[in-house]
Amino acid sequence: MNVAFKQPIETTRKLDSIAEALLLPSGIDGVYARTASFERVIDGLTDLIAQYREPNTEVLRFPPVMSRRQVEKSGYLNSFPHFLGCVSCLSGSEAEIHSAVDCHEAGEDWTPSLSAADLVLSPAACYPVYPLVASRGQMPADGLLFDVACDCFRREPSKMLDRLQSFRMREYVRVGTPRQIDEFRRRWMKLAEGFAARLGLSWRIDHASDPFFGRGGKLMAVSQVEQALKFELLIPVHSTEQPTACMSFNYHRDHFGTTWNIRTATGEIAHTGCVAFGLDRLALALFASHGLDFAAWPATARKALSL
Ligand code: ATP
Ligand code: ZN
Ligand code: MG
Repeated sequence: MNVAFKQPIETTRKLDSIAEALLLPSGIDGVYARTASFERVIDGLTDLIAQYREPNTEVLRFPPVMSRRQVEKSGYLNSFPHFLGCVSCLSGSEAEIHSAVDCHEAGEDWTPSLSAADLVLSPAACYPVYPLVASRGQMPADGLLFDVACDCFRREPSKMLDRLQSFRMREYVRVGTPRQIDEFRRRWMKLAEGFAARLGLSWRIDHASDPFFGRGGKLMAVSQVEQALKFELLIPVHSTEQPTACMSFNYHRDHFGTTWNIRTATGEIAHTGCVAFGLDRLALALFASHGLDFAAWPATARKALSL
């Protein structure tokens, strides 16, 4: 693993001092309005990531909500119940709905009248891919590649600007044999180095684990590290000591293949992997590293992002 940061940048500018030019408060921690300047960088990143798209990649853009049943079946509810946001709505007769609204008018809590819909807020961009692949039947011999994105929700409110409740995730997803997934992930961990270097970012790649829920989750996290199932591209956004995960490289083994009965061309249970870009975090990392004035950004970064 890379222990030291590559291309060390002398000072990470204080994010808080530039934040108001980038993200405007909404009254809720981790939920912000994004300024035009911030969005220019997001657009640049979106186009730049597309330049890395390999041939025969299917592009899908998902809405910010997805099937609750699919998320439950995927295991997300078991592993990350503390993050999941479920859509709930008023239903029932006109009178029942009126009475809930009247509660609010009377200054009382109307929310006990809500009931859970068949939707959750998508917690990651790749979850809807696996049932979709399963529904198509057997795969071609060279497996499948997807380019997916969506607005994600995770209930992890924080004052830290790099930990949002609503954020944008872009992913390349690979479905195929263990070997195909391994090659995909290795290639991407190499590509990510060049990606960060072009952007003039200081980075290192390290083992990581997912923030599984509860005491049992700690064991799962240890096993995930032991099996090298997750790596992250870390960039100093607030500090070098606690760098921010801006990309992750994930190997799910046969988890989604077994869950959805996805078969390779030879009839084996498929393996899956994904490489995820945290777009908001990458944009923040760029501003924290290079400041607010695009003219002062490294030329390679400006070119890469068409700024
Ligand atoms: P972290 O380690 O920071 O908790 P994670 O390991 O849970 O993140 P992944 O599930 O791998 O993250 O999600 C893919 C990418 O999405 C992350 O590498 C990160 O860039 C971005 N991301 C995840 N959670 C958040 C968040 N709360 N706010 C902004 N971006 C996020
Ligand atoms: Zn994924
Ligand atoms: Mg992590």
